[in-house]
Amino acid sequence: MSGWIAVAGLGPGDDALITPQVQAALEGATDIVGYFPYVARIPPRDGLTLHGSDNRVELERAAHALRMAAGGRRVVIVSSGDPGVFAMASALFEAVENGPPAWLDLDIRVLPGITAMLAAAARLGAPLGHDFCAINLSDNLKPWAVIEHRLRMAARGGFAMAFYNPRSRSRPHQFGQTLEILRAECCGARLISFARDVCKPDERLLTTTLAEATAEMADMRTVVIVGNAQTRRLGRFVYTPRSA
Ligand code: SAH
Repeated sequence: MSGWIAVAGLGPGDDALITPQVQAALEGATDIVGYFPYVARIPPRDGLTLHGSDNRVELERAAHALRMAAGGRRVVIVSSGDPGVFAMASALFEAVENGPPAWLDLDIRVLPGITAMLAAAARLGAPLGHDFCAINLSDNLKPWAVIEHRLRMAARGGFAMAFYNPRSRSRPHQFGQTLEILRAECCGARLISFARDVCKPDERLLTTTLAEATAEMADMRTVVIVGNAQTRRLGRFVYTPRSA
């Protein structure tokens, strides 16, 4: 049998949010590759090899998966959420770009998943119901000055915003700076929601204003959603009207 490689999104955490397409790829796979906690979501079975790896080894992980597919294995690289959102799909193509030309002829498929910001928005109501953008606040792969510039431009452009990787132990101060920038660019009454472990048993949703938000409200398991100037509360929901 000829090999293939699928880079698949497992969604935010609840197995009910894994698409049937991803489920079928997982069932047809001989090998699962990915960051340990994501690989741990796949039930072991005969004929399936699980290859968990550490964070930050995306290119090695992708090259390993490509070598296996070239050798005839059926490989799924798993990401949380959607594989194209700050995740493995781009890493896979980077590895293809820098690898042997034959890798371009492999059967490569990208299988979408439900990304954290969309799962969080659905739990909150409809805070991303008008124009919005998504920003990765980690400066692992880009300078902080770029992030700061994009934050200001997004705020000035009137976008609602979703922030991934908002705050980690190695970057404890930058989310405080993010809040300072937003307070300088937007009104203090602007709504901001912190959605932690969305669609998992310990899910926690908190909505407050920019004036009252603190950096400690976010961590690496949180996706943060800042509304636009029209975003409002409606009972227990947060929503953004479709016109602005
Ligand atoms: N590919 C993933 C994102 C990977 S970046 C996706 O599409 O969702 C990792 C960041 O995603 C985390 O720091 C957090 O900001 C966010 N995230 C992922 N799963 C989440 C969840 N269940 N609840 C809240 N945030 C989540």
